[in-house]
Amino acid sequence: MLSLWAFHAKITHASGPTFGVRKTIVILFNFTGFPDQPLSLAQAKGLVFTDTNSVNSYYKEVSYNRLSLRGKNLPDGDVFGYYQLPTPTGTDCNFLQWAQDAKHLAEATGVDTTGYDQFIYLFTRPSQCPTMAGAADAIGGSNAYYVMSTAQVLPVGGLAHEVGHNLGLYHANRYDCVDSNNNPVAVSSNCTSVEYGDLYSIMGPTNEHNYYVSGYARGFLGWLMPADTYTLYGSEVVTVNPIENLTSNLKVLRIPRTRDAQGNVLDYYYVEYKQPFGFDDFTASDTVANGVQIRVGKDYFTGGSNTWVMNTRAETGYTPTFDTPLLEGFSFNDTTNGIKITTRSVSSSAVVLCIEINGTPCDSSPAPLVVYNVSGGTIQEGGAVTYQVKLASQPNASVSVALSGTTSLSQYKTGSPATTILNFTTSNWNTYQSVTVTATADSVHQGNRIEKLNLNLNSNDARFRGLQLRSMYVIDMN
Ligand SMILES: [Zn+2]
Repeated sequence: MLSLWAFHAKITHASGPTFGVRKTIVILFNFTGFPDQPLSLAQAKGLVFTDTNSVNSYYKEVSYNRLSLRGKNLPDGDVFGYYQLPTPTGTDCNFLQWAQDAKHLAEATGVDTTGYDQFIYLFTRPSQCPTMAGAADAIGGSNAYYVMSTAQVLPVGGLAHEVGHNLGLYHANRYDCVDSNNNPVAVSSNCTSVEYGDLYSIMGPTNEHNYYVSGYARGFLGWLMPADTYTLYGSEVVTVNPIENLTSNLKVLRIPRTRDAQGNVLDYYYVEYKQPFGFDDFTASDTVANGVQIRVGKDYFTGGSNTWVMNTRAETGYTPTFDTPLLEGFSFNDTTNGIKITTRSVSSSAVVLCIEINGTPCDSSPAPLVVYNVSGGTIQEGGAVTYQVKLASQPNASVSVALSGTTSLSQYKTGSPATTILNFTTSNWNTYQSVTVTATADSVHQGNRIEKLNLNLNSNDARFRGLQLRSMYVIDMN
């Protein structure tokens, strides 16, 4: 395995865009004593920009075409070199300085290096760098470095990993947990972080695969649309679609995991489901394609963090790298935080999960509605949020949904504050209708809490009758 170096000098978001076009320059250099040119300029262009298996192709695919790399001058990439530096003296692998020297050589020959978001330096291996593979100058920086050698095909995933650091991503790690007898378990209060331990992300180890970055990373980088992600605050049955699916639908489920003394969420479980597609080039029979992956990460709206994949099957035999997904019929039970996740069914198109919070059953009421959050499951007193509702299947008669709340939460059809009924017909049942939730700005100090919204269904179709509950996490503003 190659060693990957990263300098975690900054914890800010990326200096260049993570959404849209990232203007990228590639500079190749070598040394008088190490004059190899392992890649031609055309090959370097292919590797970074134009090959079907390029860094650009990778980011286009995993971002749902929301991020691409191109040159400032040429759509198919700006590539310059080779620039030759004197053979370095001393014993340090001083690639940061060498890259600056190569950049200055490029500028001296007329290359305008201004206006770029991303610099990629590819260079031959001097004797000072016997083990180096790749590096990034900083998380959120703009420089990525990779050593070329004739014995090694430069891995797209390794280079994409370093560009990932520049985009603001940290390493994809794993938690290995043990019980009080020191036996491996899926989750406990005694877990050890394993750096690079998440096999199914390029922010984990470099290998022959270039797997998608995690759902957390997609949210952090701004690639998820509102329908793509959902934050759950109470027990519920949830359908999760494959993350490779370009269609906008629920792909990343978040469950608040730990909170501070004020009730603010500190981190979440991120649940996602993978299927073979493009860079996710495992097979349909592999474990990963037959269950969900559960990762811990911070709020992706507030800043970067490592992620930790949970080894959900630790008890079944300790092969952590490939055994992390939660397969059909299995449960992941975090008793410390009152979160139980059960994979109910798995098909190539979706998984159905039962999420139980603090022991409340996930399906105490029928579930003929599909609901997703648009502006979140959290509401501040005095604030308003919206969510979307449609029927899960076609009714054979019209269905009304009466909306009601609690003393401090009210809800109505978005745009019509007096209207608290949603009407679905046999033809518009599959079109989302928007609901606005408002929280009373009272002077009562109730603390942060979960409150239930009522959706009371009525129809001549018996399947669409009864009360459904939605959980809302209310932030006390007093
Ligand atoms: Zn790294």
